[in-house]
Amino acid sequence: MAIVTPDTTADKYDVIVVGSGAAGGQSAYTLTMDGARVLMIEAGRNYDPRSETPMFQTNDAAPLRGAGTPDKPFGYFDATIDGGWSVPGEPYTNASSERGRDFKWWRARMLGGRTNHWGRIALRNGPYDFKPYSRDGLGFDWPISYEDVAPYYDKVEMLVGVYGTNEGLKNTPNSPEGVLLPPPKAKIGELLLRQRGRTLGIPVIAAHRAVLSRALDHASLPAKLHPGNARAQRILAEDMQNRAACFWATPCGRGCAIRANYQSTTVHIPPAMATGNLDIVASAMAREVTVDAAGKATGVTYVDKATGREHHAAARVVVLAAGACETARLLLNSKSALFPGGLANSSGLVGKYIMDTVGADWGGHIPLLENLPPHNEDGAGGMHVYSPWWLYKDASKLGFARGYHVEIGTGRGMPEAYSHFGEDEGGRTSYGAKLKEEARRTYGSYVSLTGRGDMIPNADSYCEIDPKVVDKWGIPVLRFNWKWSEHEIRQAAHMQRTFADWIEAMGGTNKKKPDPDGRKAIQPGGSIIHEVGGAIMGSSASTSVTNSWSRAWDVKNVYVADGGVFASNADKNPTLTIMALAWRTADRILDEMRRGNL
Ligand SMILES: Cc1cc2nc3c(=O)[nH]c(=O)nc-3n(C[C@H](O)[C@H](O)[C@H](O)COP(=O)(O)OP(=O)(O)OC[C@H]3O[C@@H](n4cnc5c(N)ncnc54)[C@H](O)[C@@H]3O)c2cc1C
Ligand code: SF4
Repeated sequence: MAIVTPDTTADKYDVIVVGSGAAGGQSAYTLTMDGARVLMIEAGRNYDPRSETPMFQTNDAAPLRGAGTPDKPFGYFDATIDGGWSVPGEPYTNASSERGRDFKWWRARMLGGRTNHWGRIALRNGPYDFKPYSRDGLGFDWPISYEDVAPYYDKVEMLVGVYGTNEGLKNTPNSPEGVLLPPPKAKIGELLLRQRGRTLGIPVIAAHRAVLSRALDHASLPAKLHPGNARAQRILAEDMQNRAACFWATPCGRGCAIRANYQSTTVHIPPAMATGNLDIVASAMAREVTVDAAGKATGVTYVDKATGREHHAAARVVVLAAGACETARLLLNSKSALFPGGLANSSGLVGKYIMDTVGADWGGHIPLLENLPPHNEDGAGGMHVYSPWWLYKDASKLGFARGYHVEIGTGRGMPEAYSHFGEDEGGRTSYGAKLKEEARRTYGSYVSLTGRGDMIPNADSYCEIDPKVVDKWGIPVLRFNWKWSEHEIRQAAHMQRTFADWIEAMGGTNKKKPDPDGRKAIQPGGSIIHEVGGAIMGSSASTSVTNSWSRAWDVKNVYVADGGVFASNADKNPTLTIMALAWRTADRILDEMRRGNL
């Protein structure tokens, strides 16, 4: 089994997985390692990170010095291909263009999806995050608790490799001893942030990122991950030895050819392929989940993007892992006589309650960090430290529910055309000798603080099928509706106020005052690229789309493995939770197949 074409797929599979990112990769991995025969249907092209990752190229070798363009928004060498804020031939629409009511949708059309680029920030949701309604009466509780997901967080962390520390802080769970890898040292700017953060009561601890700070323990981990499955253990042990530890030098957003960080294409798909149980059909756009007369899913119809022809693949079970909004689109477009309103939609809730993360940024130049002697502190190509939410005890005084964490950016990484490299006090970039002088003085003295906060689901934030617009294959597209509540808006204002105080505590000067109106501080819905919801899980078929195992209430052999099932969106970045839930769901599917229920 391998990369196949529509003409060489098998007649029938155990499971079809739609999508190959964090959710699809994890689903395919767990299922194939346990012997299920899987077809992965992926809309993007096949992508080989070993030969296509531009790890070492410098920006001076790129057009526009590597700066972002509409087809490469994060810079010329960024890992995302055939994707971005707009995808040619694949539009989406917004019901309103009013500021604060529109939604931005980032897609990556490639094998591995957004995991080829993602920031690798891998935080566990805490116990409060699964039961938010019980704490503050807002949004929904999940039908599962932290204890249900914890063993799967452990497994995912052991498989992909996550660096970080256990600090025992509230709602910031520890991992079992020995699971996390050692974090890289804090950089000088981060040490200053920690010192001055203390005066404001803000903790600064090691970040958790899916990066191998040392090689994985291939002798013991496979047995912990696949007890009683000698074949899976052998495949994984061999694969782990082909992943090198990080050499602390290159931007992770370009991808990692040595497989030191997590991408579905470097961590999930290789061992899944090695089982011989995985077929992948790439450049294949799923358009509909098909059902039989009894209302059971029979497979998936997809468009071969190379020919424009439609094909059908058959399976006992369908797992949707196309990304939360795309999964909602697929369900809504899967209309039949039995399901005229779309599949799994008897509650009318498919597409409803979509959420993103609350985002607001701030930054400043810190004179104390100027004129440092040349030194190399690059470390991992991403965050080394962060601040988990610290004001749980003040919840009633803040004027908004829930909280946020702070992602910290500083250091002397490779200069980029769109960074603050060589700027003077007025933010102007100079030329020639003056540029060199400014660069030497200010290099590494800029600090960025990024708030990432909890969003409460609301009835005004949803996606639906646009009645008029189709993509280039004639598939109806999504129309977004969006609204932040006052909780998120006030939270964004709080972020900027706090960050401005922090810059001053470091001896920096804020160029402007934080805006007291959070509407101006908050970034547009979708722009943090943490969209979840749209097929939320719950404890009854009338109030949710999926049950506590992520299975559609209405169709017993359709499961949702991506963030669609999130019943709330904690401040924690969602991907580690997506993978943990996808593993749990795949285990359930395997059990149900063994029992003859699927
Ligand atoms: C710049 C950036 C930084 C990020 N940083 C972080 C971070 O630090 N931490 C974090 O937790 N998250 C981060 N994220 C978010 C993270 O990437 C997503 O949460 C994660 O990738 C979601 O996994 P997924 O499998 O649901 O979706 P994806 O990774 O998007 O994969 C979905 C796949 O499905 C395919 N697909 C879609 N529709 C169809 C269809 N109809 N037929 C067939 N295939 C289809 C897509 O082409 C894609 O390959 C970041 C994202 C971006 C872009
Ligand atoms: S910093 Fe490390 S993990 Fe990131 S791309 Fe470079 S080698 Fe890979």
